[in-house]
Amino acid sequence: MNPFKNAMKQLDNAAGIMNLDSNTHEVLKYPQRVLEVAIPVSMDNGTTKVFTGYRSQYDDTLGPYKGGIRYHPGVTKDEVKALSFWMMIKCATVNIPMGGGKGGVIVNPKELSEGELERLSRGYVQKLWRNIGSDKDVPAPDVYTTPQIMGWMRDEYERIVGHSDPGVITGKAIKDGGSEGRSYATAQGGVYCTIEIAKKINLTPESTTVAIQGFGNAGSHMARILSGLGYKIVAVSDSRGGIVNMEGLDIDQVSEHKKNTRSVSDFSNAKNISNEEILELGVDILVPAALENVITKENAGQIKAKAIVELANGPTTPDADEILNANGVIVIPDVLANAGGVTVSYFEWDQNVKGEHWSEEVVIEKLEKIMVHAFQGVWTVKEKFNIDMRTAAFVSAIERVTSKGL
Ligand code: NAD
Repeated sequence: MNPFKNAMKQLDNAAGIMNLDSNTHEVLKYPQRVLEVAIPVSMDNGTTKVFTGYRSQYDDTLGPYKGGIRYHPGVTKDEVKALSFWMMIKCATVNIPMGGGKGGVIVNPKELSEGELERLSRGYVQKLWRNIGSDKDVPAPDVYTTPQIMGWMRDEYERIVGHSDPGVITGKAIKDGGSEGRSYATAQGGVYCTIEIAKKINLTPESTTVAIQGFGNAGSHMARILSGLGYKIVAVSDSRGGIVNMEGLDIDQVSEHKKNTRSVSDFSNAKNISNEEILELGVDILVPAALENVITKENAGQIKAKAIVELANGPTTPDADEILNANGVIVIPDVLANAGGVTVSYFEWDQNVKGEHWSEEVVIEKLEKIMVHAFQGVWTVKEKFNIDMRTAAFVSAIERVTSKGL
């Protein structure tokens, strides 16, 4: 399915519920600007290869465009447009003063040497520097882009414009102006959503069982923080498979096991399960934290969790959403559940433009306030219109963006 068409369906759905004025609705169907650039890169073998790059600037009503840059062979213009639309929704859902943007380059970065990767990253900025800046558009890492790549991009930008502008890019290493807490911010935001939904459905941490698909940056931090709060993490998985013990897993030991064997599989004191089985376990809370489109119309009917906290982007297909809603499974949508990451990216930008550096405690305290407030706001809209939380998040975000006039 074309991701942009999918995004537009979600827009139409929310517009219908909130009775959005048709002219405003029409304007929201288009990104304000989509830039396509050709990036010539001198390869190590002496040839020149030209890569295609994009930057989609969807809407900057609430603040500078914000969103990552993806390096992937499957990048398309429509994917970048859709992702920039969802960034607009995500920033507005948590009410941070940032708009929606996203970038991408069609490349398999694993096939490039470090030097080629650096020249590509600097080349991207050479083509787009007029359109980015801390007051215009603030990129960040995404799939296969790293703090190192952000460092090269910032350096290239500052070299061209001739002055320091650390807030031009976020996701930097702390020594280069990054924020404390960024490494686990996405998970921490998901934890606040879990705490809030658990309260709504009358679960105490000790009585709540959780399964987490994906044990990478987002999933492993989520497991660690939730288990520290007393939640019972009964199953986790990674690309090689999963493990389950309904009595609860010792997450520190699982992390150690993964460090030693590169997988959570074959952990003593647990049973191996597949990545399909983990989604269908009889748990209270399910956390997809790996790939998109894992909850589909084929398996949605078998999901037994009371709530799904979408730490991954796009883990649930629209067909599956309908089945889950009909079955009373509450989905905390990605635009809310994983917005802790972009929120701390906004904090990084805010610290950079103010010349400040906040302690980890300050960052996490501010994050909690924003996430809890956003959760409650979305819940209120859900109750008001009697709709699911994804649609409620879209309605509240579009309300915020359009209330200023487009
Ligand atoms: P990551 O690469 O660190 O981790 C991904 C995890 O998924 C790994 O444990 C990997 O083994 C596992 N995985 C891969 N293929 C799998 C499969 N077929 N089945 C089950 N597990 C599989 O990535 P991440 O940063 O943790 O991101 C995970 C998801 O969260 C993505 O959808 C990403 O877009 C989303 N997200 C992450 C952040 C962030 O700050 N890291 C922010 C917002 C959204």
